[in-house]
Parts: sequence; structure tokens; C-alpha cells
Amino acid sequence: MIIVLKHGVTAQDVEQFSASITEQYAVKVNAWYGEYSVVLGLLGDTSVVDLEAVAAQNIVASVKRVQEPYKKASRHFHPEDSLLNLGGGARIGGGALGVIAGPCSVESEEQIVDVARRVKAAGASFLRGGAFKPRTSPYAFQGLRAQGLELLRKARQTTGLPIVTEIMAANHLALFEDVDVIQVGARNMQNFELLKELGKMDKPILLKRGLANTIEELLMSAEYIMAAGNERVILCERGIRTFETMTRNTLDVSAIPLLKEQSHLPVVVDPSHASGMARLVEPLSMAAIAAGADGLIIEVHNDPPHALCDGPQSLTPPQFDALMEKIRRVAPVLGRTLSGAGEARE
Ligand code: PEP
Ligand code: MN
Repeated sequence: MIIVLKHGVTAQDVEQFSASITEQYAVKVNAWYGEYSVVLGLLGDTSVVDLEAVAAQNIVASVKRVQEPYKKASRHFHPEDSLLNLGGGARIGGGALGVIAGPCSVESEEQIVDVARRVKAAGASFLRGGAFKPRTSPYAFQGLRAQGLELLRKARQTTGLPIVTEIMAANHLALFEDVDVIQVGARNMQNFELLKELGKMDKPILLKRGLANTIEELLMSAEYIMAAGNERVILCERGIRTFETMTRNTLDVSAIPLLKEQSHLPVVVDPSHASGMARLVEPLSMAAIAAGADGLIIEVHNDPPHALCDGPQSLTPPQFDALMEKIRRVAPVLGRTLSGAGEARE
């Protein structure tokens, strides 16, 4: 962190200020006296330094971070890739491309069990399905809630696929006890109290990027979970809001290599919510793999025209079969192998 002091500060001001910074944040402060200004360089763990508090001091002209404000999520302090391995071939990262597939929402036992069987047969290694749904309208289908979680358990029992499902409130945590991967949706990416609670759990968290959040903000939200004790975070790029209206969101492909560069955490891409259109799911999946994604999360419904949520972006099981076939051919060329059943359990 670099702090430029205001013109005309005395050597005594500089010494006092430097001492207070060292005492408060346990960092080393070096001072350079120039002709017109004094510049301070802070060395050590500056992620704990409150930039706004420093900027508000009378003798400070400007402050700039030169190191990331996140630490546990940073590749700087953890050069090797983190990966998720739930056993039985359910892997994301470390060269394994994990595919999470299933309907937007759990609608009935027949629906979720049928979709689970079909995505498993196609080669998916995780089952998704929303039980608690964040809907823009309070009159839209809100999900089957606790009953939806029960049906996901049945689908897991039938197929062996680990389940990925979204939590919307910390007071629902008890219901998520045996969920394999807890999803934090885009709308809750900055629900910091929820993130802190998830940080106390020993469970992988799939953290989706907010609709209008920067890459750094996504990493800071991951840091919240990790700082509270849970380092099993998976980042998800799911499209951001732009001026474009032809697609539901805009897939930020550059976020994929940037996240992988900045962080050791696995990166999953959601081409379904990014585009809102079933026919764009395959090309965006290819783009995501080419850009370095560790996994994909894809909406699949056995009857998209009658889906209670997100029908237009849902693939039918045959369309998903075709996509998986293509992934199976493309992934090895790009240095990844499709994770899946049949791999040895750890
Ligand atoms: C979902 O995965 O069904 C969902 C609601 O996604 P997002 O939070 O990315 O909108
Ligand atoms: Mn959806």
C-alpha cells in the first residue's frame, strides 16, 4: 500500500503517523522524502489495513493498494490450485472438468429423479436443483423449500450424484446439513452475514458472482467465507448485467482467466443464466472450457416448455447428451478431462 502525504507535512508528523500505522496494523512503514511530497510504503499483510480510515487522516493526500485486499483467496499466498473432490468422480479442478446439471427448480419427485437419472447417464457428476428460489416477483413459483430438499435427497439416493442447491437465508442452515454443495446465488453474493455463517460450516460453497459485481468484489465475498474458517469455496461466473438486451446477462469470459490468475479457487461457469437461451448454452460452454473453467453448471429440464422456472434456458436431456458428447471431445484438447462416475474414490 502506498500513502502519499500532503505537501508541507513535518518530519514529526510523518514519524507519528508511521508509528500509529505500525502499531494499529502490524505492518512495516518506509518513508521516502521527495522534493514536494512524502510517500509512505506499507509492507506486510496490508489486507487488514482500512483504506478509508487511512484516507480520512488530515495529513493524507491519497492512498493506493498495490496488493490485493484479499488474502486467503489469493494465489499469491497459495500458488497451487485448490480443487473439490467429493469422491466417486465428483471432482472440480486440478485438470478435472466437473459438470453440475439439473433443473432450475425441483418441481416434483418424478421430475427431479428423472432429470437426475438422465444427466447422470449423460456424464454429469453433480445434480443441481433449487428448493428455495430467489424470484423477482413474489407471485412467481418460490420453490418447494424443505420438501424440495427432501426430493433432492431422494434423487441422490437413486443416482448417487452429490446435490448442489441454493441457500437464501442463514436461518435455513439446519435444513442444509446433508446438502453436498451449498450454492450462494448471485443475489446473495454480498449478504455478508450469510457468508460468515457459511464460513463456519465444513461444506463446499458454490459462490455465484452478483449481477453487477466486480471480479474483486466476488473474491472479497469468497474471502468472507474463508476468513470465517471455510476454505472450500468454488467461484462461479454466471453473467453480468450490461446494456445488451438480446441475452439475459453477458457472460464475462475474461473473468475466467482473471479469477484463475488472482485466485487458487476453482472456477465454474453457468452458461444457462449467463445467456437465458438454451441454444447459446453449447457455444458458451465451449468458450468457458477454452478460457480455463474448471466446471460448468447447466440447467436441464425434462419438459422445458412446462418448467416452473427458467424453461427458455433449459436444455432437454437429448440436448444435454449432445453437449456432453462435445465436451468429452473438446476437453482433452484443452488439457482437461471430464470428471465422472467410474473414477476411483479417494
Ligand atoms: C440458479 O442457479 O438457479 C440461480 C438463481 O442463479 P443466479 O443466482 O446465478 O441467478
Ligand atoms: Mn435458474
